[in-house]
Parts: sequence; structure tokens; C-alpha cells
Amino acid sequence: METLDYRVARKRMVEEQLIAGGVRDPRVLKVMQVIPRHRFVEKGLEDQAYLDRPLTIGSGQTISQPLIVGMMTQALELKGTEKVLEIGTGSGYQTAILAELAKKIYTIERIPSLSLKARKILYRLGYYNVEFKISDGTLGWPEDAPFDAIIVTAAGPEIPHALKSQLTTGGRLVIPVGSSESQKLCVVKREKDKWTTTAISECRFVKLIGKEGWSGE
Ligand code: SAH
Repeated sequence: METLDYRVARKRMVEEQLIAGGVRDPRVLKVMQVIPRHRFVEKGLEDQAYLDRPLTIGSGQTISQPLIVGMMTQALELKGTEKVLEIGTGSGYQTAILAELAKKIYTIERIPSLSLKARKILYRLGYYNVEFKISDGTLGWPEDAPFDAIIVTAAGPEIPHALKSQLTTGGRLVIPVGSSESQKLCVVKREKDKWTTTAISECRFVKLIGKEGWSGE
């Protein structure tokens, strides 16, 4: 059982960070009110899990601050029937949110230890609608494409072509794009052979490393 303190901290997170920051989708607010974010952070950081900041998850990677997670999820416009691709499993926190809001999730992580840890916690919490893969997510998941929504939680120098081509007609792709220091959070919408990109905010993410991302470490 989790303590009342965590529930209170989550309620404050939803009100003071998400709603105050412009997250309106009631489904997104509802799941972020219940998912135990403190179970996804590193040991010893649990009491910081609901603060307005990113946190380390090991292997030099971070879990984004709650408001960014809420904004990105809201931009996917999920109704519950979708097939979703996530690049950058990391801690699995964003994966849990997607698993609550859509039908089936395909998630790719390039660092094996993070993927395995995320798999363990997600199973323990009862999320069985998630497929995991350890690989370069900039190439997407061609065997199971197309996807109604794609979310990338690491920043690339440009939008990977493979991901754009793996969107359904009407599909949405959310991805931070820019330099390694600062990026814009972009939402790409596909209409048949036309892709429209809108920037919704400034952000700062860890690097998307891969064939259609940054090279090396
Ligand atoms: N969404 C995560 C945050 C992950 S941080 C969470 O909720 O915890 C970004 C993650 O993207 C890191 O774990 C990093 O290893 C991963 N990553 C970077 N480039 C990648 C690539 N090309 N394919 C798959 N994962 C990648």
C-alpha cells in the first residue's frame, strides 16, 4: 500500500503543475493522479518524484518533469483505441501513462538495463498491453507499423523520416527537435502524404542517439 503522503503529493502535482501549466485533457489528468511516479525513480529520490523537475533514472538518463509529460501526452489526443509507439522507454513512467490511455503500446529503448528495469516495474503494476524492444528507435518498429500516435522522449537534430512514415493517416507524432542544448517540442500530424508540424513549447531533453538521431554517446 502506498502512503497518503504520495497521494497528496500527486494531487498537488496535478493541480499546481499540470492544470496550472495548461494540461486540460481530463483523461491525462486522471491517470497522472493515480500512477505512482515514485515507483519509477531511483532509490532515494522517491520523495522528489512529484516535484516540478526532471529526475535521474540511471545510465545518464532522466525522467522528464511532470508538466512536460502531461503536455506531450495531451498532444497525442488518445481516446483509448490507439496503437502507440514510444521511443525512449527510460524508467517506464511515460509508458504506464500510455498503457492506461491507449489500447496497445510498443516501446523501444537503446539501453538494455533501463528496458529490463522498466519491464519489471510495469509488469508488477499490472500493465500487460506493452511490447518492449531493445534497439534504435529512430528506425521505428516497421513490423508493427503504422501507429496512430508516436511519442519520442529524447531530442533529435531533426524528425526521423522512418517515424513520419510509420504514422497512420490522421496520426500524431510528438518529438523534441533542436540542438543538444535546447529544443522545441514539435507535434507532427499526418494527412495522407502531407505532414504538418507545429511547435508547442521550448524544452530540454537528453539526446536521441541513433541512425536518424545524434551519433555516439
Ligand atoms: N520517457 C522516459 C524518459 C526517458 S529519457 C521516462 O518516462 O522515464 C530518454 C530515453 O531515450 C533514455 O532512456 C535513452 O536511453 C533513450 N534513447 C535515446 N536514444 C534512443 C534511441 N535511438 N532509441 C531508443 N531509445 C533511445
